[in-house]
Amino acid sequence: MSDPLLFNPRTYDPAHFDPETRRLLRATVDWFEARGKRRLIEDYRTRAWLSDFLEFAAKEGLFATFLTPEADAGPEQGDKRWDTARIAALNEIFGFYGLDYWYAWQVTILGLGPVWQSDNAAARARAAELLDQGEVFAFGLSEKSHGADIYNTDMLLEPDGNGGFLASGSKYYIGNGNAAGLVSVFGRRTDVEGPEGYVFFAADSRHEAYRLVKNVVDSSKYVSEFRLDNYPVGPDDVLHTGKAAFDAALNTVNVGKFNLCTASIGICEHAMYEAVTHAHNRVLYGRPVTAFPHVRRELTDAYVRLVGMKLFSDRAVDYFRSAGPDDRRYLLFNPMTKMKVTTEGEKVIDLMWDVIAAKGFEKDNYFAQAAVEIRGLPKLEGTVHVNLALILKFMGSHLLKPAEYAPVPTRLDAADDDFLFRQGPARGLGAIRFHDWRTACDAYAEVPNVARFREQADALCEFVTTAAPDEEQSRDLDLLLAVGQLFALVVHGQLILEQARLTGLEQDVLDELFGVLVRDFSEHAVALHGKDSATEAQQRWALDAVRRPVVDEARTSRVWSRVEALSGTYEMAQ
Ligand SMILES: Cc1cc2nc3c(=O)[nH]c(=O)nc-3n(C[C@H](O)[C@H](O)[C@H](O)COP(=O)(O)OP(=O)(O)OC[C@H]3O[C@@H](n4cnc5c(N)ncnc54)[C@H](O)[C@@H]3O)c2cc1C
Repeated sequence: MSDPLLFNPRTYDPAHFDPETRRLLRATVDWFEARGKRRLIEDYRTRAWLSDFLEFAAKEGLFATFLTPEADAGPEQGDKRWDTARIAALNEIFGFYGLDYWYAWQVTILGLGPVWQSDNAAARARAAELLDQGEVFAFGLSEKSHGADIYNTDMLLEPDGNGGFLASGSKYYIGNGNAAGLVSVFGRRTDVEGPEGYVFFAADSRHEAYRLVKNVVDSSKYVSEFRLDNYPVGPDDVLHTGKAAFDAALNTVNVGKFNLCTASIGICEHAMYEAVTHAHNRVLYGRPVTAFPHVRRELTDAYVRLVGMKLFSDRAVDYFRSAGPDDRRYLLFNPMTKMKVTTEGEKVIDLMWDVIAAKGFEKDNYFAQAAVEIRGLPKLEGTVHVNLALILKFMGSHLLKPAEYAPVPTRLDAADDDFLFRQGPARGLGAIRFHDWRTACDAYAEVPNVARFREQADALCEFVTTAAPDEEQSRDLDLLLAVGQLFALVVHGQLILEQARLTGLEQDVLDELFGVLVRDFSEHAVALHGKDSATEAQQRWALDAVRRPVVDEARTSRVWSRVEALSGTYEMAQ
């Protein structure tokens, strides 16, 4: 029997989507299964480029169907639209089979971001055509010396006297830079000072003035360094100028970073089948390893954390798709998917690796790559720090100043999420209001660990009201990030509860999961207690917020049975 909460290729049938989406998702799974585990792992280990996979995707029109917005699809649009729900489903599949495949698709999404946001109809038409031809795309923002500091760019555009420019400079860490039919490149004009000088333009990686330097990583992901030497940028290549170019960069990252949570879910799911099956069949001292209480605890924690990741991400899809100029709540839930869900993914893998130990190193298993690749997701599209700092901007408003909104339903409908490409200026975050997080908790007040968690969330509100960091502490990001972790937990819990209600999650699983979140809250509170600049009042508050989860052996044992039942339910065909 397959666990209904986890993706299992054996039973996967995304019948909740339209027929063509369902067919394409299933065809992708079938392609990987037919390729087989041995070949997949060999390609990973030999760092092979993904030609066969890209050929499959081109033949099926996979990227063209999933990544062309309705407005750019032309008269024969078929099933083309930008639909975050099915994009999320595909992320999970790619994560499940290998992050290298996901990455080629992910940076294609990033590369398309500045194009789909552009008023340049010629560039948009070219992008749609390239997608139809099965080409991949790239996003050229990062540079070797500037990291997250994207205000600084040494990609310089010199006016050519005919309304165009000659671009020179280099970019670093640019995925698909070896193959992309279109690379969206961020730079600045040499003749205009300040933000007005920014330009986003489209380059072709096959042009003679585009020089591929190398792959900077040792992987099938082609994370390139490239140089432009007097690359001619004509009016048809200019995507954005001035402040709009900067907004396009941030808004593209907003769209792109949403993909990391579901990718990490796919990684954890595949690794979990391997880990539970191995542990359950390994006999030590005459008993299966899963008879050890600590092993049961670790695998149960891993399972409920993974379920939490899925519930949060699924619910975040609804807010993402329902966003608009008057509802920008996604700007909190999005960095949450990025930093919280992906760091949960790291914990899930760590817990399982502690259990399977040596098995996790073996080259014939998926787990070995899961253990490596899961680390990347919290670091890409902005680090944990950067996303946590962003999340903190919403804390006061989210916790203390709820506003009324119409309920957001489950969004699996076949709609085109056009707002994502007209998000507008990235400023004004302080004015964003949220619906009351307490409603989600109240709906499950009878679940013991939800009630316990609620006490901690209420305590955090009290902290913000009575012991919030003062002006000097507001410059101590080390302390603030510890507070941010506490806040992130409240938001995590909120969307999990909303999704649990919408999907009728089994109460045992929910209770067990919230037991873990209560422990996490206590852990972060203790971390805050130990911070250099924590005041006495803050230290006191932190220790007072520590809670013990409500223990229920029968419940834990019932949840454990679900985990145990995963043993043998999936192994990838050789
Ligand atoms: C495999 C891979 C693929 C990539 N693909 C692409 C791509 O296709 N296109 C692209 O443009 N880029 C890409 N990148 C670049 C990636 O987005 C950067 O790694 C990221 O922006 C962070 O930059 P950095 O790693 O140089 O860290 P740095 O910017 O050097 O940061 C150093 C430290 O300072 C902290 N820090 C920086 N700013 C802040 C802040 N405001 N608040 C709090 N802490 C802060 C960071 O958290 C970090 O701990 C890729 C990177 C990798 C490794």
